[in-house]
Amino acid sequence: MSQSLYEIMKTILPEERIREKELMKNHTTFRIGGEADVLVMPEAQEIPLVLQKAAELQIPVTVIGNGSNLLVGDKGIRGLVLEIGKPADYVEIEGNRLRVGAGTMLGKAAAQAAEAGLGGMEFAAGIPGSMGGAVVMNAGAYGGEIKDILVEAKVITREGKELTLSNEDLDLSYRHSCIPEKEYIVVEATLELQPKDIAEIRERMAELRQQRIEKQPLEYPSAGSTFKRPEGYFAGKLIMDAGLRGYQVGDAQVSEKHCGFVINRGNATAAEVKQLMQDVAEKVYEEYQVTLEPEVKMIGEF
Ligand SMILES: Cc1cc2nc3c(=O)[nH]c(=O)nc-3n(C[C@H](O)[C@H](O)[C@H](O)COP(=O)(O)OP(=O)(O)OC[C@H]3O[C@@H](n4cnc5c(N)ncnc54)[C@H](O)[C@@H]3O)c2cc1C
Repeated sequence: MSQSLYEIMKTILPEERIREKELMKNHTTFRIGGEADVLVMPEAQEIPLVLQKAAELQIPVTVIGNGSNLLVGDKGIRGLVLEIGKPADYVEIEGNRLRVGAGTMLGKAAAQAAEAGLGGMEFAAGIPGSMGGAVVMNAGAYGGEIKDILVEAKVITREGKELTLSNEDLDLSYRHSCIPEKEYIVVEATLELQPKDIAEIRERMAELRQQRIEKQPLEYPSAGSTFKRPEGYFAGKLIMDAGLRGYQVGDAQVSEKHCGFVINRGNATAAEVKQLMQDVAEKVYEEYQVTLEPEVKMIGEF
């Protein structure tokens, strides 16, 4: 099956943007994940044809961005993985607005906004995700979120149709949008920012970068905050108070620096991370009757 899928992809995409039996650990910030049958890196205009071919072959399609919020199973991903990355990496600035390709890293878009004297996305500069993934997750930090700056997003439906959806259409709330349930593929976002002193923007970005370096275990692979913030609590504090700082399953560990992060100490498997997450959620529930919901998306076969 995968052979023919690979051959068919070769008829519509350049070979250097198709990978067969690709280890997903090389496409996630957790550095975890087994093989994808076939992984492709299409440009926006190639996506409808890729989807059409996959549908003809009845092959499941999984969309990823920079893989910074993913736990991919050790047995990998069956079917086709569509990575929205480099081929969809661009920033165009017009007035106070930025048109950002879904494959652009947030840090790059924020840096270009800063250079143009546009403020409002400083909060996003240190989030290691793509523009597309940030819209899907309504990524946020330090009091800001994508919802505050997003005007509209261009998406492609699974039928290959392009739609432009407004901020309201996307139903954005804390780490949520309607995109996963509708199975849209984000190809571009338009952001609206405000003119601001360049030095001030840079200073704020540097300050937030410093806070991340001090508080987050950036020296280890992870997928950021493992659990969503339960209303009225902080996941990291609950986990720490439950006595789980440094708790380990194999090479997966509750970070000693920030208990809200699960880190990969070297060769952690997805099964170990999943087990650790279950143990943590159970213990926190036992102690505080608070349910921890994963923020990290688990995909593929475990
Ligand atoms: C060290 C570290 C710090 C972090 N700090 C923060 C933080 O402060 N705030 C925060 O919100 N997050 C944070 N994160 C988590 C992560 O960076 C964000 O969730 C980010 O928005 C994910 O983007 P991505 O491109 O990596 O998406 P991925 O992880 O690849 O995918 C996430 C989800 O989006 C979907 N998706 C991705 N791209 C597309 C697309 N183009 N079209 C349709 N669906 C798509 C995927 O299917 C998946 O469901 C952090 C992660 C790390 C590792």
